[in-house]
Amino acid sequence: MRSQILIHPEELSKNWIDRIADAGVTVLGIHPWGGKHAEKSIQQMLEFLKTPEYRGLLDYAAERGLEIEYEIHAAGYLLPRDLFETHPEYFRMNENGERTPDWNFCVSDPKALSFVAKRAAELALALYRSGKRFYFWMDDGKDVHCRCPRCRDLSPSDQQLLVINAMLSEIKKHISDAKMAYLAYFDSLSLPEMIKASPDVFLEYAPMEKYVAKSEDAAQRIAREQAMIGPLMDFFGREDAKVLEYWYDNSLYSKWKKPPKEFHVDREAMAKDIDQYKALGFSCISTFGCFLGADYEELFGAPDIVPFAELTK
Ligand SMILES: [Zn+2]
Repeated sequence: MRSQILIHPEELSKNWIDRIADAGVTVLGIHPWGGKHAEKSIQQMLEFLKTPEYRGLLDYAAERGLEIEYEIHAAGYLLPRDLFETHPEYFRMNENGERTPDWNFCVSDPKALSFVAKRAAELALALYRSGKRFYFWMDDGKDVHCRCPRCRDLSPSDQQLLVINAMLSEIKKHISDAKMAYLAYFDSLSLPEMIKASPDVFLEYAPMEKYVAKSEDAAQRIAREQAMIGPLMDFFGREDAKVLEYWYDNSLYSKWKKPPKEFHVDREAMAKDIDQYKALGFSCISTFGCFLGADYEELFGAPDIVPFAELTK
């Protein structure tokens, strides 16, 4: 069983690396912020990755036996929004029939897709000490896919998978054994219908509804999220299937605003979930652990990740 904690790039420290390695968690995840400004956080991370200090930290993590992976809402970085001025056709059409550079892009535009795939390969090669599994997700919004006449029949799931297939094919020119995650959450929980997954695309299931669904139909949404696990595993295969959970996501509990709030893990809920994931055959269980960096430690002391590590062994 692989286990993983994802933290923001600026939170990486020797303390965090030791905490993860000492507990017996096997993978360190670096996760730039999502949301509207994901691109800035990615740029900042790429600057960190050029410095000897930051590389030294990642070398240390590798020496401590940790695998290193990067999980990124990458669409806005892969197709820079300023291309909208010269190439509006690269960008998505919204529900009003207008091209807009707000989120994602037009996955049916061959030039946009090829631009994104090439830049994805460059990004993969820039991720210092990265493992061979890549996580370049679409933008972190709901209902933000392209609705142009060519994309209209492609669901958000189909659109994501089409982009993943294109990125992975380009990345494989440089890293022949690369794999890439399909992120199933919110509107990408549905199975792709028009697009088939390339070999080496694996499932990453992130049950966020469970934490954020508040509307009248919350119970239904959460039940649907649960019910999709089996079909998603059947579609993408079980071998590399991964869960991305929120048990230690103090950014979620702090509503993505600093300073971080004091955090306590819900051990009982986590234990129940992990039992289920193990029984279903997931081979990697991961959780966000953002907003538990040095600023958190100063306010509330070191977070305790031992319960997670023990349950995932
Ligand atoms: Zn389109």
